[in-house]
Amino acid sequence: MKFIDALRLKSKLFFLFILITLGLSFVGVLGTLNLISMKKKIDSLYFGSFITVLNLDEILNAYHVEIATNIYLAKEKIITSQEAIDSIDTGLTKINTNWNNYQNQYKSAQEHPFVQYTQKEIENSNRYFKNLKTACQKGCDLKEVSIDALNLHINHMRTIITKLRSYEIANAEFQRKELLQNYHDTQIQLGLILGFVSGGVLFILWRVFKSIQKDQSQLETVSKQLQIANKKLENASYTDALTHLHNRRFFNIVIERELKRAIRAQNQITFMMLDVDYFKQYNDTYGHIEGDKALLHVAKMLKGILKRPGDFVFRLGGEEFGVILTQTNPLESESLAAKICKELQEQEIPHIGNKVSIYLTISIGVFTCKANETLKEEDIIKQADKMLYEAKASGRNRYVMSENGGTLP
Ligand code: GH3
Ligand code: MG
Ligand code: MG
Repeated sequence: MKFIDALRLKSKLFFLFILITLGLSFVGVLGTLNLISMKKKIDSLYFGSFITVLNLDEILNAYHVEIATNIYLAKEKIITSQEAIDSIDTGLTKINTNWNNYQNQYKSAQEHPFVQYTQKEIENSNRYFKNLKTACQKGCDLKEVSIDALNLHINHMRTIITKLRSYEIANAEFQRKELLQNYHDTQIQLGLILGFVSGGVLFILWRVFKSIQKDQSQLETVSKQLQIANKKLENASYTDALTHLHNRRFFNIVIERELKRAIRAQNQITFMMLDVDYFKQYNDTYGHIEGDKALLHVAKMLKGILKRPGDFVFRLGGEEFGVILTQTNPLESESLAAKICKELQEQEIPHIGNKVSIYLTISIGVFTCKANETLKEEDIIKQADKMLYEAKASGRNRYVMSENGGTLP
């Protein structure tokens, strides 16, 4: 069944459709064939035996009632000779019609001799009754007709016809038994075939469904892997490779999102721009690799200080960092900026090129305000940049903060 797994989903469904159609057609054709054969058997039972017995009954009846009884009645003068003649006529017509009907039904080769014999006997007795009738028409008295001769004829015919009738009844019983047996056999045969076909179709269906399920779970796994890979890719595109802080691209998204949020809630928003002092000299003195280590150090320190859910730290480029603080009042922002400057210096990372300290230091421009509709991202960045410039100009290793446009020392 490996070929099922190899099929594509569309082909698998098509295969299923073909399989079900074939299975149903097979069962349908088989059922129809059996019904046709059953119909033939019922037909032959009905016309071959039941109707023939009726024909023979009618013949017996004609001999007894229409012919014999009326001749007796005429002999006893209960009816007239003419009435008896009419009855004999009716009887003979009935006998001929029913015998013809009987003969027209299918007869097997072994039945032919007896049928021919009966035919001859009927013709003989008909001749006898016709002669009787002709004699009566010519004025002969029915009283003179011999009862013994009449009984002989009637009994003889009754024996022959009754034999034939018994044979047909036995034949009908045999056919009925055969039909019932046949019905029973067909039932078992059809049940078995149906069972096998349904079992086979169900088995293949199960295999196809299993295969579809397997494809589905493979698809789900691949899709999950793809989602994870996409997430990683997205994270990578928003993360700075050196410090693992968020990068400028993510800063652009966050500043827009947080500003909107602050405007909606009329909250305080703070943005800090941080720049390491005399970092060019640091690289020149200690080398680029040591410079990278120093930047990593600054990043870790910032992450250590700014831990609240509403705090965001970014590396905006080179030795420049950005901090967004939401739900932080101006006093807290100011103390955080002071803490950053102080903590970096207290870590005592030697920086002999630094003209304001013997250790690595940082300058910070802080802008904080209550957000309103008129506040734009560019204004926030511009204001923080301006404060950073002032911090650098006024001696570095410090922060300068502007609150709603006003500058604090
Ligand atoms: P200032 O106090 O005015 O900021 O002086 P500065 O030397 O820090 O200013 P400037 O902007 O001229 O120098 C920034 C330097 O930062 C330049 C470059 O050598 C260094 N730098 C930028 N990106 C990286 C980095 O990824 N790794 C290292 N090691 N150094 C970097
Ligand atoms: Mg710089
Ligand atoms: Mg610098």
